Amino acid sequence: MQIEAAVLTVIGAPPPWGESRPIEFAAVELDAPRYGEVLVRIETAGVCHSDLSRVSGDRVCNVPTVLGHEACGIIERLGDGVVDLSVGQKVVMTFMPRCGQCESCTPPGWSLCSRGSKANADGMLLGGGRRLHRNGTDLDHQSGVSAFATHAVIDQHSIIAIPNEIPSDVAALLGCAVLTGGGAILNAGRLQPGESVAVVGLGGVGLAGALVALGSGADSVVGVDTVASKLDIARELGLHEALTPQEATASGRKFAVVVDCVGSGPALETAISLTAPGGRTVTVGLPHPDTRITIAPTELVVQARSIIGSYMGSNVPRDDIAGYVLMYQEGRLPIEKLISGHIRLHELNQAMDDLHHGRTLRQVITFA
Ligand SMILES: [Zn+2]
Ligand SMILES: [Zn+2]
Repeated sequence: MQIEAAVLTVIGAPPPWGESRPIEFAAVELDAPRYGEVLVRIETAGVCHSDLSRVSGDRVCNVPTVLGHEACGIIERLGDGVVDLSVGQKVVMTFMPRCGQCESCTPPGWSLCSRGSKANADGMLLGGGRRLHRNGTDLDHQSGVSAFATHAVIDQHSIIAIPNEIPSDVAALLGCAVLTGGGAILNAGRLQPGESVAVVGLGGVGLAGALVALGSGADSVVGVDTVASKLDIARELGLHEALTPQEATASGRKFAVVVDCVGSGPALETAISLTAPGGRTVTVGLPHPDTRITIAPTELVVQARSIIGSYMGSNVPRDDIAGYVLMYQEGRLPIEKLISGHIRLHELNQAMDDLHHGRTLRQVITFA
């Protein structure tokens, strides 16, 4: 079938991208779902920093590709072998398929699906190959999703069904911002009710984590960022305090759980310095692979502290998303506060500029 998609054709084009326009809007051919795959009509898709970093070239990917990994849609067609999903069902996507059968997916513990990791790296679906084509050229799938399009064919292991009554713009954020930020707090950080939390880096993931902490009984939740407008947003969202890194350090306060969502060495060092004895520093940032930091191992030992890396929530996404849906339905997780605007697909280049300059939190593309 023919769909409309946003195709990234150039990596590292000079900003502003609203002028250099590395993303083209084109008619694209989409294959029918194969075994274990479904056809989804996309209703909403969030614009995430991971999309931006592929446009800017900070993260490696091949072009042409269709970006977009944080999304919500309605199943229109099932491929053979799909169980537990039905036509008309509302679903959200996760950015790493979980096959459930490889050595990485098998309990105990948590690790990334090795088959899913390879498929993502190759720009393919879990079942192999590409379903997107334009002018005789295959297009890469991003993270097995490619949701910046009117429709997507997606492996069933990248999809999680949610109640149809959850608003689609809110639901889109479940699969990346909420899953990543919330998992850093609850799974990696092992937050206990009454503990204090600091979040360093107040983008979509950081603030989603802060909202999960607030809804999970944290005693105080403090946001830390260098950008004044983000500190204002954090206060509007109900965080107890919002501080610059200098203010946070000078205050002398320490926190049981500190999450670094920035992706830079200095930010992680700040997060470590703000962590209380017995506390957990969690990092979800993705700095340049060559980044190194300085730590004092003795402090870790005598203060019984830990530093933990967290990816995609450090758990089984299906279980976590069910929990966040419940928190939302109970009024404990106001995800809608993270949405700074609704845009159309053809505004995506400009949206990258707005995200790059910190002018927005989560922009959600809506499809009529
Ligand atoms: Zn994302
Ligand atoms: Zn697996």
